[in-house]
Amino acid sequence: MTRPLLNRRLAEFGTTIFAEMSALAARTGSINLGQGFPDTDGPEEIREAAVRALRDGRGNQYPPGPGVPELRSAIADHQRERYGLAYDPDTEVLVTAGATEAIAAALLALVEPGDEVIALEPYYDSYAACIAMAGGTRVPVTLRPHEGAYVLDLDELRAAVTDRTRLILLNTPHNPTGTVLTRAELTAVAELAAERDLLVVTDEVYEHLVFDGAEHLPIASLPGMRERTVTIGSSGKTFSFTGWKVGWITASPELTSAVRSAKQFLTYVSSGPFQYAIAEALRLPAAYFDGLRADLSAKRDLLSEGLAQAGFEVYRPAGTYFVTTDIRPLGATDGFDFCRSLPERAGVVAIPNAVFYDHREAGAPFVRFAFCKKTEVLEEAVSRLKRLA
Ligand SMILES: *Cc1c(COP(=O)(O)O)cnc(C)c1O
Repeated sequence: MTRPLLNRRLAEFGTTIFAEMSALAARTGSINLGQGFPDTDGPEEIREAAVRALRDGRGNQYPPGPGVPELRSAIADHQRERYGLAYDPDTEVLVTAGATEAIAAALLALVEPGDEVIALEPYYDSYAACIAMAGGTRVPVTLRPHEGAYVLDLDELRAAVTDRTRLILLNTPHNPTGTVLTRAELTAVAELAAERDLLVVTDEVYEHLVFDGAEHLPIASLPGMRERTVTIGSSGKTFSFTGWKVGWITASPELTSAVRSAKQFLTYVSSGPFQYAIAEALRLPAAYFDGLRADLSAKRDLLSEGLAQAGFEVYRPAGTYFVTTDIRPLGATDGFDFCRSLPERAGVVAIPNAVFYDHREAGAPFVRFAFCKKTEVLEEAVSRLKRLA
């Protein structure tokens, strides 16, 4: 057979660095701070709620296409109580198989072949693949390090818009840089979207993981944006049940219906009993969300300080559970080489940020570590990383 098996839309996405790095971690007995999943399960009462739903026969058969009503109203209440955003649970909320399916369904529904999609670079790996599957062209706008944080260059964003631009794909709090877009930045994005008649798809799966009093602001809450924005949320990161794959979108009835048209032919439905459990999770008292933030904020400090002591330049994240570092102070320039040798040198696995870039050279000297791990695991990682200094 001369023709490659994998079609040309997906050819560039054949293998991911995560598989390589996780295999390396297992082979070398390294601490895996590469992939971002918690090593502790979420609240016991929510796990029990899933068991109860399963035993009571709720969700064991196909749940309703848009999601179970209990979860849709919990999502609507969450958006209203936190952000003052009112969504009708029947026509403006759609439950998905994690944020991953929401991203795929939104792009498949809204992008026409040839449309350009602007995404903030470095970007979450599924964005590029989903834009490609939709036949779109991705146009990266690069977040650049400036005085210890990554910032969005609004002129660069404005210059990236063409007559073919269909939508802007946002992610705040931002993985992998930990940046939380400010009200000023989001206002500028909103003005641009209105002026050029663009849609906005915004991935807000880390909405609850913001530190030091930083504020997460959904762009849908800015004037005029509700009608042109698809907001994506997920329970995975907020409740530490990433295997349950309960995500959602909130958007106008027209946008929700468009996304549902694609979603119904992807998974149709998913996660039946877990949907009931997440409906309860979204109604946990403020103490839960505060506790999660305090825990991760302490872990961020522990890992950030350890990395700085080991010689890295550290971009202290304002949100998410990732920290990006610059390896140049350690005498290295290529993140791939660095991450491939780190297990041998220090018994720790990390991810080279270059995999999140089209402009690979812009990401070359940066490396990402996850801190959603037990304190003792992070302490051990920090003590191993001291070998580098
Ligand atoms: C983890 C993650 C997702 C995927 O969320 P799921 O609900 O697990 O599908 C989407 N976007 C970003 C930025 C993420 O980090």
